[in-house]
Amino acid sequence: MDMFSHISEHEQVVFCNDPSTGLKAIIAIHNTTLGPALGGCRMRPYASFEEALFDVLRLSKGMTYKCAAADVDFGGGKAVIIGDPSKDKNPEMFRSFGQFVDSLNGRFYTGTDMGTTPEDFVHAIKETNCIVGVPETYGGSGDSSVPTSLGVIYGIQATNEAAFGSKELSGKTYSIQGLGKVGMKVAERLLSEGCELFVYDINHQAVESLAEKAKCFDGKVKAVSEAELYQAPADVFVPCALGGIINDDTIEVLKVKAIAGSANNQLLETKHGDLLFEKGILYAPDYIVNAGGLIQVADELYGPNKDRVLQKTATIYSSLLEIYRYSESYGIPTSKAADKFCEARMEARKKRSSFFSHSKRPKWDIRN
Ligand code: NAD
Repeated sequence: MDMFSHISEHEQVVFCNDPSTGLKAIIAIHNTTLGPALGGCRMRPYASFEEALFDVLRLSKGMTYKCAAADVDFGGGKAVIIGDPSKDKNPEMFRSFGQFVDSLNGRFYTGTDMGTTPEDFVHAIKETNCIVGVPETYGGSGDSSVPTSLGVIYGIQATNEAAFGSKELSGKTYSIQGLGKVGMKVAERLLSEGCELFVYDINHQAVESLAEKAKCFDGKVKAVSEAELYQAPADVFVPCALGGIINDDTIEVLKVKAIAGSANNQLLETKHGDLLFEKGILYAPDYIVNAGGLIQVADELYGPNKDRVLQKTATIYSSLLEIYRYSESYGIPTSKAADKFCEARMEARKKRSSFFSHSKRPKWDIRN
């Protein structure tokens, strides 16, 4: 394998091997133009080393754009641990992982992602200060789905403004996929505004629980099947479950005017952003809309302050409007306009930092 051709877009890739704890991990630092790399640590039973490497390279690059979009002083990074989270974890493994993170001397900050929990990182903080998102009892900032769901609401408001001429949530119909930590909060807020909802979740209890809550509001909830959800006569589709749900098949049947939700990697392929644009469906790029959780963990560097996090999350509204204007002016899909918006932010920073070449180590130190 020609490793350097695989990692040509990345600054640094670190392979972590500790047989005494079973730790096999890869840390990828994509770009530190805006600050030290930040990105969660995912644990999965990858079928091969190549699959793990592919995942960490792809995800760390995504974090560079997400951090730029959220205007936080971090670059893009990510880590993966190769193993089955249901049986291969142990506290020593996370302490060992913490030591590897610490060896990067402040170039990489990490925390929970798919397959890892805030509690796992309670072990890692014994070895390094470069951990975010631990439980509140250990100085972390708490449930990230709170700012994430608020960010989705700002995202829907900006999208309504651009697609329907008014940011009002009420008076529109929404189709929501996924009623988990984020989707449920978004649904409740929309219900409180008297909106009508089509909902689908593989977990029937979540749907029933929302229907029960709907009795307290003017809004109405209609439970539908997955196929019916994509075809629902709604104004806005709000994906809050899986990635890849915007694809050839769903674009063909979608009747909505706009899409804005929290799910990561909603577009199956880049071309699906182009297809939405051609079909006249306004797409709110996922990594802009779902940045509330990232804003919260990045903000831990200044010490916990929920009000500051919520204020910063509100900027998702103006960022999205800027992206929509750019897309309209240049006649390009919003997915591409979002990438350009982030690249412009990085270019501006590069010019400024060229005067003084400070160390990339942040001047703050978490929990010190
Ligand atoms: P969650 O696990 O709490 O909820 C996901 C919900 O989706 C669950 O209720 C689950 O039953 C449902 N679901 C799973 N498969 C489904 C399917 N095929 N069809 C319909 N529903 C299905 O997750 P969450 O924290 O609410 O996150 C939702 C999405 O938002 C995920 O894609 C996540 O990566 C993304 N996201 C979350 C955060 C956050 O702070 N929680 C931040 C950024 C992005």
